[in-house]
Amino acid sequence: MKSIYLDYASSTPVDPRVMAFAAPYLSEVYGNPSSLHSGGLKAKQAVEDARAKVAALINAEDDSTLLFTSGATEANNLAIRGVALRNASQGKAVAATAIEHMSVLNPMKDLQKQGFTFTKVPVDSTGLVEIDHLSESVTKNTVVTSVMSANNEIGTIQPIREISRVVHEKALYLHVDATASAGRIPIDVQKEGIDLLTLSSNDLYGPKGAGALYVKPGVKLQSIVFGGGQEKGLRSGTENVFAIAGMGEAARLAEKEMTAESTRLIRIRDALIAALLTIEDSFLTGHRTKRLPHHVSVRFSHIEGESILLNMDMYGIQVSTGSACSSKTLEPSHVLLAIGLKHEEAHGSMVVTLGRSTTMEDVPVVRKAAGETVERLRKLSPLH
Ligand code: PMP
Repeated sequence: MKSIYLDYASSTPVDPRVMAFAAPYLSEVYGNPSSLHSGGLKAKQAVEDARAKVAALINAEDDSTLLFTSGATEANNLAIRGVALRNASQGKAVAATAIEHMSVLNPMKDLQKQGFTFTKVPVDSTGLVEIDHLSESVTKNTVVTSVMSANNEIGTIQPIREISRVVHEKALYLHVDATASAGRIPIDVQKEGIDLLTLSSNDLYGPKGAGALYVKPGVKLQSIVFGGGQEKGLRSGTENVFAIAGMGEAARLAEKEMTAESTRLIRIRDALIAALLTIEDSFLTGHRTKRLPHHVSVRFSHIEGESILLNMDMYGIQVSTGSACSSKTLEPSHVLLAIGLKHEEAHGSMVVTLGRSTTMEDVPVVRKAAGETVERLRKLSPLH
């Protein structure tokens, strides 16, 4: 049985070209980037080369605006906690959309315990931020507002330029989690008016264990990890040179190939959406057109996402679900609830994310497996 991997929003394979580029940093080049000898300098050079490549992907003002972290979770924590705590004298409020990743929502909830006000900004039924609500939600005391560039679960792309304008009319800094969108849609931190932006290597066909935070020149933040003072004192700890070098090369390839690859994937995406929606009682989640090029998310009534995932796996097809068990809790996805679905509706979701190995030939295979899966599960479902 041919295995079809369709969970690229959870993890991408390391591109073989990235692997070939970064492998020497696991073997020949093993110095510590802080060491002054030649082995250390080589490692330092690898980190700096990667910084330039990642900066280019998002059109940052210069390389020094990028800080490497262990991944998107840490970058989100650093952006939110680091900025809120450093700028608390200017206001003790933070805001985020209701569909942010937990690595944004949970640091904000934690800040609440320290006396900050946390406002959740609602989204509409397609997942788009409600601009009027956003404008009402932020005040001059809001030190950081977080809006993801695109949602990993429903694929909806936010109008960041407009959001930036609204946020900056009253509030201080805009943080954008671009984990799901980087390398898939163009991102320009300068044109879009972004103050802080999170990136993840693992979502770019780079190795796990690296992420980055863009910090606009002039934005003040404090460290959340203290130690030897690496990364301008904002992220202490010996750099993960292999993963960082890989992330840099992954960013360079993503930038070079993004237009062609996204055009290719949009055709497959649209064909797969159309095919899946021929299944009875199936519905698209997220926005139909303001959608990541590789993102297909649907829900089926009367069945449960974890069972869909496990049944699809029996066909050799690996997909994801926004519902309960993917997040190891019994609660349905906060994203699907935020777009207005009822609990029982939010449970039957299937998230299919395409990538470099996906072809148009996969579409009928996935449609057939999904059709049989839904039929089988509905026969067993007491709700049907
Ligand atoms: N933000 C978004 C939008 C995500 O999809 C993820 C997970 N891929 C994260 C943040 C956290 O990434 P990680 O678990 O790699 O730190």
